[in-house]
Amino acid sequence: MNAAPPEAGFGRAKKALGQHFLHERGVIDRILQALDPRPGERIVEIGPGQGALTFPLLRAHGELTVIEFDRDLIAPLTAAAAPLGRLEIVHRDVLQVDFTALAAGRPLRLVGNLPYNISSPILFHALEHAAAVRDMHFMLQKEVVDRMAAAPGSKVYGRLSVMLQAWCEVTPLFAVAPGAFRPPPKVDSAVVRLVPRPRASVAIADPARFAQVVRAAFGQRRKTLRNALSGVLDADAIRRAGLDPGARAEQLAVADFVALAEQPAPQD
Ligand code: SAM
Repeated sequence: MNAAPPEAGFGRAKKALGQHFLHERGVIDRILQALDPRPGERIVEIGPGQGALTFPLLRAHGELTVIEFDRDLIAPLTAAAAPLGRLEIVHRDVLQVDFTALAAGRPLRLVGNLPYNISSPILFHALEHAAAVRDMHFMLQKEVVDRMAAAPGSKVYGRLSVMLQAWCEVTPLFAVAPGAFRPPPKVDSAVVRLVPRPRASVAIADPARFAQVVRAAFGQRRKTLRNALSGVLDADAIRRAGLDPGARAEQLAVADFVALAEQPAPQD
């Protein structure tokens, strides 16, 4: 029996939507402190759930936009938010939301205790809109945060580390135990801050090519670059990027992937 006791009017937690509702005041306060909302900022929360972050944020900030997929939560959120401030609810799958349009010219500050089952797709979706985003504060599975922030040589350094670090500064903030949520997830959690780098400081000329090279390089982690990248880059191109074709992806710095992605694909 690990279903959450239903909060007034909100019903039970839905597993399929990754619903684990925060209830620990100390954790909520630390997230708000990390976010440090200032008047006039465009703050958007992903997955407000039963409002654990939403209501304190709305009280502090006066206006807030939230993106929530669960239709059963829309009416109770609307009712509970009314006395607190101006809450705009976008009732959609977050993966279908155009963050750039939502920003409407004001740099977005994204925040959320994300549904863990789709956390990587949400991160990649946010990356596509990085130019419209000022920063992101997300609660995620701790294991995912460890992968996001990992350095070359670490066992958990991989595609997620390289893709996120290429576009963003990644700062793990603090860990959160399962007991802070109802129902408690089976894993530890952590809050991370992501700050997109200014586009001019990111030397990636072709983002799609960069993504292709990183995906191929880590597709077969145990293989050498020569083998993992076959069809994407030949050994001469790997050498021209200043790298040893016998090296493995897990040893390469983010800048090495940028250099690889500058090389043209082999002609057939
Ligand atoms: N923020 C609340 C809290 O901390 O208690 C709820 C967090 S819960 C881990 C994740 C929330 O994301 C749930 O409210 C869930 O309904 C919502 N959600 C799940 N999948 C979603 C999707 N594809 N688009 C938008 N929201 C989604």
